[in-house]
Amino acid sequence: MARDYYGLLGVSKGASDTEIKRAYRRLARELHPDVNPDEEAQARFREISVAYEVLSDPEKRRIVDLGGDPMETASAAGNGFSGFGGLGDVFEAFFGGGTASRGPIGRVRPGSDSLLRMRLDLEECATGVTKQVTVDTAVLCDLCHGKGTHGNSTPVTCDTCGGRGEIQTVQRSLLGQVMTSRPCPVCGGVGEVIPDPCHRCGGDGRVRARRDISVKIPAGVGDGMRVRLAAQGEVGPGGGPAGDLYVEVHEKQHPTFVRDGDDLHCTISVPMVDAALGTTVTVDAILDGPTEITIPAGTQPGAITTLRGHGMPHLRSGVRGDLHAHIDVVVPTRLDNEDIELLRKFKERRTRDEAEVRSTQAPASTASGLFSRLRETFTGR
Ligand SMILES: [Zn+2]
Ligand SMILES: [Zn+2]
Repeated sequence: MARDYYGLLGVSKGASDTEIKRAYRRLARELHPDVNPDEEAQARFREISVAYEVLSDPEKRRIVDLGGDPMETASAAGNGFSGFGGLGDVFEAFFGGGTASRGPIGRVRPGSDSLLRMRLDLEECATGVTKQVTVDTAVLCDLCHGKGTHGNSTPVTCDTCGGRGEIQTVQRSLLGQVMTSRPCPVCGGVGEVIPDPCHRCGGDGRVRARRDISVKIPAGVGDGMRVRLAAQGEVGPGGGPAGDLYVEVHEKQHPTFVRDGDDLHCTISVPMVDAALGTTVTVDAILDGPTEITIPAGTQPGAITTLRGHGMPHLRSGVRGDLHAHIDVVVPTRLDNEDIELLRKFKERRTRDEAEVRSTQAPASTASGLFSRLRETFTGR
């Protein structure tokens, strides 16, 4: 259920940008944590700030007007607001000042995730593969084990901020006198400093290092899919828990096969006479090696022969898709006198075969559907 952002600000759906701004400003005057420390007011302040953030952004407002909730998609994608921290931007943009007081941040914090791209060919995507990769990442400092201190020394309270991790200043703003705060520049918001830092990591508790990791890619992966390796990302400041490492698959284009989900497509050029008389063609299929495809007598250009279960394995079930061979009939262009003689004789026998003018119709629906999908796949790369 999408949140009622208009209702939160008490404006109508047709409200102009100025009206939205005015409504937010009026409510923020009552609810800002420095004015109203009441918990309920703070919760409402967060809500109206999100509502303002959404309705002041034309793109996000459009999503709301279509019945969606842009903040939900944002958090599902992992880049939405995380608690109060994210609101700093909108508040700062609006009132030009710092955010509300939050106290010192921890020295030990979780590390960030890393992303690595891996190019695989179609065969590797089909079989799955284990590859060694070298990652340049932050690892735990083995000298201080994350403490950041040298020997037996300990961190001390920061003199500049008195341990609060932030410096407060009184500013005049739209709200009147407002207490704003910013992270302490000396301790970086931690509230303590290390007088005698570790000689290897300089107090950060982690160092950069190259590591070789073995990455197992499952059979059936496709372009753009990500494999998550838990806790193989960056170690956090102060030796905090490592983030995850994501390996994103980039599938190389195959010289023969075009992939459409678990199905594969290829084109087989068949000489005119073979299409008429029927033949077999050997295709070097993915996972199956040389595989015979029967071209029945009387095969028309654009016909599709499907080999069930000769496509890619499904990532989870392992059930294989199909291989679709699109038949292209090739008419000979270089004919010698004997060829011409034979074809004339053939024509004499086929007196009923003659050119016919018809209205243009869309090609058979399945064929056109597949071919347009193929074209999309080609142009999409
Ligand atoms: Zn400080
Ligand atoms: Zn260290």
